[in-house]
Amino acid sequence: MIASVRGQQLQENVRPEKGIVVGAGIAGLGTAIALARQGVSVTVIDRDPPPGSDDPDRAFAEWPRRGVAQFRHSHVFLARLYVLLRDHYPELLATLLQMGARKLPFSASLPPQLLDGYDALAADDDFTLLSSRRVTLELAMRRFAAAQPGIEIVPDCRVQGLVLSPDSGIPEVSGVRIGEGEKQELRADFVIDASGRTSPFPDLLRKAGARIAEESAPAGIVYFTRHYRLRPGRSEPPRGGAPSVADLGYLKFGVFRADNGWFSVTLAVPEIEDGLRALVRKAAGFDAVCAQLPGVSPWTDRACAEPMGDVYAMGGLDSLWRHYMRGPRPVVRNFFAVGDAVIRSNPLYGRGCSAGFLQGHLLARVIAQTSDPLARAQAFYAAQMREIRPYYDIMVKQDAQATRRAERARDPDYQPR
Ligand SMILES: Cc1cc2nc3c(=O)[nH]c(=O)nc-3n(C[C@H](O)[C@H](O)[C@H](O)COP(=O)(O)OP(=O)(O)OC[C@H]3O[C@@H](n4cnc5c(N)ncnc54)[C@H](O)[C@@H]3O)c2cc1C
Repeated sequence: MIASVRGQQLQENVRPEKGIVVGAGIAGLGTAIALARQGVSVTVIDRDPPPGSDDPDRAFAEWPRRGVAQFRHSHVFLARLYVLLRDHYPELLATLLQMGARKLPFSASLPPQLLDGYDALAADDDFTLLSSRRVTLELAMRRFAAAQPGIEIVPDCRVQGLVLSPDSGIPEVSGVRIGEGEKQELRADFVIDASGRTSPFPDLLRKAGARIAEESAPAGIVYFTRHYRLRPGRSEPPRGGAPSVADLGYLKFGVFRADNGWFSVTLAVPEIEDGLRALVRKAAGFDAVCAQLPGVSPWTDRACAEPMGDVYAMGGLDSLWRHYMRGPRPVVRNFFAVGDAVIRSNPLYGRGCSAGFLQGHLLARVIAQTSDPLARAQAFYAAQMREIRPYYDIMVKQDAQATRRAERARDPDYQPR
């Protein structure tokens, strides 16, 4: 009896670990949800204001999301994310579906001639994609995260630096700075960088002596996206006609089915195709190209759907892998990075959100398994190399091949370097 009372007191005296997550995007929210599940108390800080509305249509139109340049670009969420949610976060999956996201089963990707002879197996559920606008996924994750005990979301707050302990051999992180002076320091047991493509932390840490290595390669394309909403009473064009996703060498295109009657079209143009890029940047040129694509034109036909806003363009796309380990040693202590801040790939593969959430899930498991900072860094790095690296290598190779194909399409005498 005494022993069990003592045990209870001991448990009550153990302070839950406190983590700070910088960035309330997909990877940041996913990491916070996974950490809270492991009993960590998490503060998520984001530079942007909160969504003014929980309604995807209003948030799509009104939410100023300057911290996420790709916020209004086409997104689809791969089976890796679906399976992760289904198996570990089913309430979040239910929230997302309730907000209008749809499951696209394996059969949805089969052409009619294969569909006839297709007998679904239970395991085929593992190939299910999720389709929604990115705003809808973000709102669902945010709503879900905000309802979890142990998660606090602090909007409108830009993290400007790290609190570092100078004495150890490598930089040791004990918090973040949100302004000048001691009062502007927030302390934590560890800090997670989920601040996306423009993360300030690699540079800050390098200045503090962290030897972060980096691999990167250009994706070689520029993304052009326009959103549409089906007109009342109209449904999505039937499958089985011309492909709504294809790679023509000089142009890749895709129709992205989304939520609540919305869909989008993305035209991905090789960087070297200057003329085509200039054409599709403007709505009239974008529409003209869509009208020429037999798999896209039934969607963008004005009788079927109305455009919802202008064309969004995004360039500077790359693959990137940052190494926070040098051999068996971490280059910084009590600091981890997830999502685009550390690993990113050509958006055409649609892997970023799955990879970011998966990293958060893996990191939370590592943090629950050991309190040793060195063991945490090693185990997290090993998990990413095992779960994500093989896909990364294939994507980089395919990007290089696609760039060569595009060069050859433009110049038949082209010789690869
Ligand atoms: C054009 C395009 C299309 C894409 N399509 C797909 C797709 O179809 N499927 C898919 O899975 N992935 C896709 N991706 C990739 C996906 O968008 C990213 O991988 C994903 O958003 C990464 O999430 P993140 O949380 O790391 O970063 P983000 O979602 O970019 O979030 C970063 C967050 O950090 C905040 N922040 C930044 N700096 C600070 C600071 N100093 N202080 C506080 N907060 C800060 C920002 O406000 C933001 O909320 C696409 C990417 C692009 C560019």
